[in-house]
Amino acid sequence: MNLLNGEFSDLMLIHGNGYNRISKVKLFLASFLFFIKFTSFITYFMRVINRRGIRFVNYHDFHTSDISNFSSQLDYLSKFYHLLNPNQIESFFNGDFNTNKNGLIITFDDGLSSQFNYAYPILKKRGIEPIFFIPPDFINSAESKQSKSFADKHQIEYYLNSNTEIAMSWEQVKEIAFVGSHTMSHCRMLESISLSDIQYEMSQSKKILEEFTNKKIHDFCWVGGELNTYSKQAFQVAVNSGYDNLYTSNNSIHTKTSSSKFINRNNLEACYPISLTAFQTCGLTDFLYFKKRKSVYKKLHDIK
Ligand SMILES: [Zn+2]
Repeated sequence: MNLLNGEFSDLMLIHGNGYNRISKVKLFLASFLFFIKFTSFITYFMRVINRRGIRFVNYHDFHTSDISNFSSQLDYLSKFYHLLNPNQIESFFNGDFNTNKNGLIITFDDGLSSQFNYAYPILKKRGIEPIFFIPPDFINSAESKQSKSFADKHQIEYYLNSNTEIAMSWEQVKEIAFVGSHTMSHCRMLESISLSDIQYEMSQSKKILEEFTNKKIHDFCWVGGELNTYSKQAFQVAVNSGYDNLYTSNNSIHTKTSSSKFINRNNLEACYPISLTAFQTCGLTDFLYFKKRKSVYKKLHDIK
């Protein structure tokens, strides 16, 4: 897979223009900063100013050719972070872990079968449980073998791995320890979405996931991440639906005093070289997202 040149093999992603297009400038910068050890310096610096902070990262689809790179990423991340399970957040904040590293929690968006088939076993072997954010309608589409057209229509990006089914099955979702909602239909919460549709996307997805998994669903992850995909109305519906934790993708470290209704995540993909993995998680991009975080926060809380 030649991601560095932005060229994709036949097996590659066929939909969208998102995470697979890594800019050459960013890659060059990441390699340079990694080479001069600036990224590790920033990681240590962030550790000093955010003691006992937790960084959340999010992945999307997972290609079979990225399996060994994903393992290398985990090796790298383990050097700088204490990899946590979601049920360890509180005790980590309380200082129960004998570590001087910040914590890191892995999340996966969209409910793609590759995440379950390839990434989950690697993580489980290391004792790491991620959170999978699932849009139930996508899982339903797998039952009717319509998942590719569903993904195309609802902007879920995917690789064509050797297995033909791209969505997870309900059987797989049931096996996951930590499941969160990613709306019913992978719906961006634009201002134009009606209140009844917002309620359906937020509350129904929680209800269906709880029914199928037989677990309480505490986590919700916004779809899209652009500023116009967050709305105050949807935020209130999410809170009223009973979600404890709401996740964005606006890069920052989560601390004991951060709001659980505003958990920011840094984006990683399994194909990212280690230098880019370091760049994305060291904390530099947290500064670049400062304005966006502020804008999203103000929008959700209706602050002018
Ligand atoms: Zn998504």
